[in-house]
Amino acid sequence: MQSNALETEGFKQILKEAVEVGFTDFSFTGGEPLLTPQTAQRTFDLADFVNELRDDESGGYTKLNTNGAHLLRYQDEIVTTGFTELKVSLDTLDPATFRSLAKRGEKVFQDTVDGIMALKDEVPIRLQTVVGKYNIDQIPDMIDFCAENNIDIKLFDISRYDNALSGSAAFANDNYISLEAISTALEYRYGTAEIKYAVGGYGHPKKVFTTSSGTKIEIRDTSPSAHYSSELCQSCPNYQCQDGLCNLVIAADGHIRFCREGGVDQTIPSHDTDGALMTPQAIRLNLAKAAGIFSAAQNVEHHGALKSSRLHLPLSVL
Ligand code: SF4
Repeated sequence: MQSNALETEGFKQILKEAVEVGFTDFSFTGGEPLLTPQTAQRTFDLADFVNELRDDESGGYTKLNTNGAHLLRYQDEIVTTGFTELKVSLDTLDPATFRSLAKRGEKVFQDTVDGIMALKDEVPIRLQTVVGKYNIDQIPDMIDFCAENNIDIKLFDISRYDNALSGSAAFANDNYISLEAISTALEYRYGTAEIKYAVGGYGHPKKVFTTSSGTKIEIRDTSPSAHYSSELCQSCPNYQCQDGLCNLVIAADGHIRFCREGGVDQTIPSHDTDGALMTPQAIRLNLAKAAGIFSAAQNVEHHGALKSSRLHLPLSVL
């Protein structure tokens, strides 16, 4: 937890105003929300708070993004909180690849997989899998595993800039691989994909395939366009990124950010320079302003994916 992190009560005030403004969809992410007992408890408290505030008829969601290492420890709390979905970052089902990618040992890997298996019939689960040269040959098996266990999966190509999801630009240059061939193979097996955008029509278009058992396989394909804000994004060092604007973020310090990867220019404060939380009216105005900037986001030509490497994918196994 950062030293300037907002207290739970401060977050509740911001979330309350967000619901007032009309936000309905909330994802709890990190860092790792379940890293410590304190961060886990705060996550459950805030998720409960949002679930109670939000109108049941809104059709909104409360999701938890996690690396999965502590799912077993918090199994009961996760079920009780009533998350709409668990998004578990997992790039491999092979312990050796996990060790080399996550730099964590076999116990963490086993806890992650055991946690997924323990919760899969209690809460909808989606694996978040970044695909690179290091795991491309494992993707067909991961998809089969998901289809057999009623777990959705989303495949991402590696982001080409330094970010929390995929690591460094240097890592991307060494490991990037296009998902185009996977997409073609999935289309051959499951038929034409549905095209999906983030809530409100923002973000990056995703292809969604559905297996005969109802498992969803999403692909973040970076070749089409993404939504940006000319007001916000052009001063961002990542412009044009591979995601585009897709959701507002309440950072650990409580400030409202237009995206996870943006900087100061992409931030609206939620407390004054002396550190005091702004009034509810000021927070509400800032949230509404942020939502307005989202509405004005432009759809611009995408930068184009990195050059794809040769792909060795056993199409018949998908
Ligand atoms: S502000 Fe966010 S969405 Fe916009 S270019 Fe930067 S990283 Fe991408």
